[in-house]
Amino acid sequence: MASMADLDWVTYQKCVSQGDSTIFLPIGALEQHGPHMSMNPDVLIPTAISEAVAHKLSNAMVAPPIAYGYKSQQQSGGGNHMPGTTSLDGQTLTHTIRDVIKELARHGNRKIVMMNGHYENSMFIIEGIDLAIRELGWDAITNMNVMIISYWDFVEAPTIKLLYPDGFTGWDLEHGGVLETSLMLHLFPHLVDIDKIVDHPPATFPPYDMFPVNADLTPPSGTLSSAKNASEVKGEILMNVCVEGILHAVENVFNVDYVKSITKKTA
Ligand code: ZN
Ligand code: MN
Repeated sequence: MASMADLDWVTYQKCVSQGDSTIFLPIGALEQHGPHMSMNPDVLIPTAISEAVAHKLSNAMVAPPIAYGYKSQQQSGGGNHMPGTTSLDGQTLTHTIRDVIKELARHGNRKIVMMNGHYENSMFIIEGIDLAIRELGWDAITNMNVMIISYWDFVEAPTIKLLYPDGFTGWDLEHGGVLETSLMLHLFPHLVDIDKIVDHPPATFPPYDMFPVNADLTPPSGTLSSAKNASEVKGEILMNVCVEGILHAVENVFNVDYVKSITKKTA
């Protein structure tokens, strides 16, 4: 059992009404990722990771992803002026997240994992969780446990060294680069055309932002670093590292004793 939406409501209710189910909620974006790749890696990758982790846990499932995210920023996603990039206002994303968490709580869920795939979403996810927990508290629901994960945080130094033998320029410049392209080659190869990869040096930006953006600072390809060294093998390594790391973290945070102790305290 992995997909919440595929269940009938009676089966779903049986799984979640005791509060011991773990629900993964992937949060992505619709954003250009260069001419060599589809515009949905930020939603497809965290959804695939959530599904793989949920399959390894007892009583875990994946809610339908939030497929739109906060506005692409020039220094981390090329910028919101790019064609195809389709974004939400921060308040819309915050309130969508708040509303979905409150609905999941109404069903009985108390363990939720927010699986982020788009850097710019980060603070709006935090705000949505904060509003949900505050408002649920008004109904005396005070035992929510919400975990936030950005999957790339689980790629640790030894893997970075292995995958970037020529040096690593940082996650912010990885937009459409080796990380996402390799994962997409592994998970959804039909959505990548390696012949269209534009090989260019990592983008350089001043240590500040200007609005409206100076579009000339974004490489014409829309990617912030080259995907030339991406490969399916690297994608498999990245997928395994993320799934294993996240599985252990979720098991650790949501182990039965932990949740029981919280419930007792607030009963
Ligand atoms: Zn991306
Ligand atoms: Mn993104």
